[in-house]
Amino acid sequence: MSKKLGGKENMYFLSTRGNNEKITASQAIIKGLSTDKGLYVPSSFKNLSEELKNLVDLDYKQLAYVILKEFLTDYSEEELKYCIESAYDEKFDTEKIAPISKVGDDYILELYHGPTCAFKDMALTIMPYLLKTAIEKNNLQEEVVILTATSGDTGKAALEGFSDVDKIKIVVFFPENGVSAIQKLQMKTTKGLNTCVVGINGNFDDAQTGVKNIFADEDFNKELKEKGYILSSANSINMGRLLPQVVYYFYAYLQLVKENEISLGDKVNFVVPTGNFGNILAGYFAKQMGLPVNKFVCASNDNNVLYDFFTTGVYNKNRELKLTTSPSMDILISSNLERLLFEISGRDAEKVNELINNLNTKGVYEIDQNMKDNLSSFYGGYATEEVVKDTIKEVFDKYGYLLDTHTAVAYSCYEKYVEDTKDLTKTVIVSTASPYKFSKDVLNSISSVDDSLDDFEIIDKLSDVSNTKIPGPIKTLKDLEIRHNITCEKDELKSEIIKFLGK
Ligand SMILES: *Cc1c(COP(=O)(O)O)cnc(C)c1O
Repeated sequence: MSKKLGGKENMYFLSTRGNNEKITASQAIIKGLSTDKGLYVPSSFKNLSEELKNLVDLDYKQLAYVILKEFLTDYSEEELKYCIESAYDEKFDTEKIAPISKVGDDYILELYHGPTCAFKDMALTIMPYLLKTAIEKNNLQEEVVILTATSGDTGKAALEGFSDVDKIKIVVFFPENGVSAIQKLQMKTTKGLNTCVVGINGNFDDAQTGVKNIFADEDFNKELKEKGYILSSANSINMGRLLPQVVYYFYAYLQLVKENEISLGDKVNFVVPTGNFGNILAGYFAKQMGLPVNKFVCASNDNNVLYDFFTTGVYNKNRELKLTTSPSMDILISSNLERLLFEISGRDAEKVNELINNLNTKGVYEIDQNMKDNLSSFYGGYATEEVVKDTIKEVFDKYGYLLDTHTAVAYSCYEKYVEDTKDLTKTVIVSTASPYKFSKDVLNSISSVDDSLDDFEIIDKLSDVSNTKIPGPIKTLKDLEIRHNITCEKDELKSEIIKFLGK
């Protein structure tokens, strides 16, 4: 029998909608979404504040083990270490995995050193191993089909992570006109016979809603089961995505302690460029585990639903989705917010059901005063397109540091936050993508882009103008073969899946 981890025999996962399901971590990772369409949450959070002092000198992998073992209690030490070692290896271009750069008086946590140059790699390099292990542990007979809607970065990171993993297939849907040229090329060149990439004629919410409906479609799931398949998700609603992200919040904090930038116990702020609310929620989980955090600045682009939510308590998705230069944040329904609603309501599943019902039927809900009071560690901000552009230029001119468009949203929200609050707490700005993933808009901010330049010429020019190096995975992209060229309408997702599985 394998040794239980963390001494927490009673750790289990439950649904935010309260159907009394109690499942293990590995089962939650296989299922993705609960049968009642709720999201899984851990039954409790282990408080690590007394242990922080012992963690300062751990490297990323060692720290990942310390954090993850508190949640993945049905994985053996050997299994979990295998997953961690397989994920955080030389796929990353730095041994630190998530290094920090000091820019002016602030810290930038760089989560873009993985194989696809965006923060999704932090979780999607490990999740395939967590899932593969889960399949084996649970003696699953069916093959798992990972179904993913992406606003750009998840898709490639998931494809890369799952490519050629045994007993798993992956289907990715992306908005055909809602991702950057480089993001699209990254996905379309994916290798692996178990991978399928489909562009949807619609926006990200169409893709996400389509995928969610498929998960809830009992007949379709039955049909798949008869064919020997079960569906799972690699979206940030999956625990296998969320939990690995908790690690870098601890790692960032401990790096600052180690470098004597802060003292153990000092509070810090985190500024997070936010879309589906997965990244920032992992930070909130870290705080629940005793990480000393003062504020989370939730940074949005022109799609400022979350800004409105944090300033008024009203979540209103009834508005036009705007396509911006930070496409991974072009989202009107931030799925992971449901997990925060669960926590700030004192884990009141009835309340969550009521709010989500309102969202589904009217497109809007309002939280009560008690819930609002529990949001005090959040501050909402947003940045317009013009501000994003100016911020990239300002930071580059001042510090020679090149921000991508998403990180620029965060940076400018932080400037606004300081102006508003005069808060001098040390602050970590979470950087979610390499500027080279969004070369055209980044170049346009610090210089000019000639219309005649193709995407790769733009990348070269960005490197010249900024005097920075092109990351390996982007440099080699132009030599890769296009392997996927399917598009479909937003009501054709199911038939595309069947076509692929029938092959
Ligand atoms: C996915 C993504 C985000 C948004 O993260 P969420 O977890 O969805 O809030 C921000 N920036 C980049 C570059 C991303 O890929």
